[in-house]
Amino acid sequence: MSSDMHWTTRSARAGLRSLANFVWPQRSLLTGERHGGDAPLTPEDFAKLNFLNGSGCRDCAMPLEMDHGEASQCGACAAKSPKWDQARAAIAYDEISRQAILELKHAGRRDGLKAMSNWMAMAGRDILPETDWLIPVPLHYQRLASRGFNQAAWLAQGVARQTGTLALVDGLSRKRNTPSQGGLTARQRRRNVAGAFEVRASRQGRIKGSTVTLVDDVLTTGSTLAACTKALRKAGAARVNVLVLARVVREADLTI
Ligand SMILES: [Zn+2]
Repeated sequence: MSSDMHWTTRSARAGLRSLANFVWPQRSLLTGERHGGDAPLTPEDFAKLNFLNGSGCRDCAMPLEMDHGEASQCGACAAKSPKWDQARAAIAYDEISRQAILELKHAGRRDGLKAMSNWMAMAGRDILPETDWLIPVPLHYQRLASRGFNQAAWLAQGVARQTGTLALVDGLSRKRNTPSQGGLTARQRRRNVAGAFEVRASRQGRIKGSTVTLVDDVLTTGSTLAACTKALRKAGAARVNVLVLARVVREADLTI
């Protein structure tokens, strides 16, 4: 194809895209309403998001009443440290971000991924340089087959693209198809996922002695991430950090 032809095709495609946006404009990731722009978030949407940007408790990413700098730890973590080493979250899970996360998780909308991965890369800026592998929380293969995608793997790949950190999307596997954690208490959640994860035999050599950053969309009580951490430590991971898109910050939002 000549370069002229190439450009003609390109501009024709761009033209079609803007026509499609005009006829069927983007739906906002937050409100679901259609707007005229070609980005999944309008500036107004963006301003409504509650960015944590890696601040808060260094161990669980919970926002703190007062910021004590890098060494800050919340009361709960001071009393009992999480299984993993450190955690970072990009945004708070609230009424505002809920829609965007549901669109990603249940509708498989990928158009917000680049922005979300970018926020995660920013939130994890101090733990990513020391990370050997980004590993997503896995779905059971039956659920993966029926849904067709794993949103945590998409986010891990997105962060990998943004930062050059390596992603090992099949590092962990889910042995049991555990029921959804929604509506369970913290104790029930722990029992639900206990022993549900393992490092794939073919990946053990890479995990041993490495620093892993676990990736998930939402950090709720942390029981799933703790079960994944346990499996990674069993396989010899030297350090396990956590990086999530959103962190539940209020008791009332634990129903997800
Ligand atoms: Zn904490």
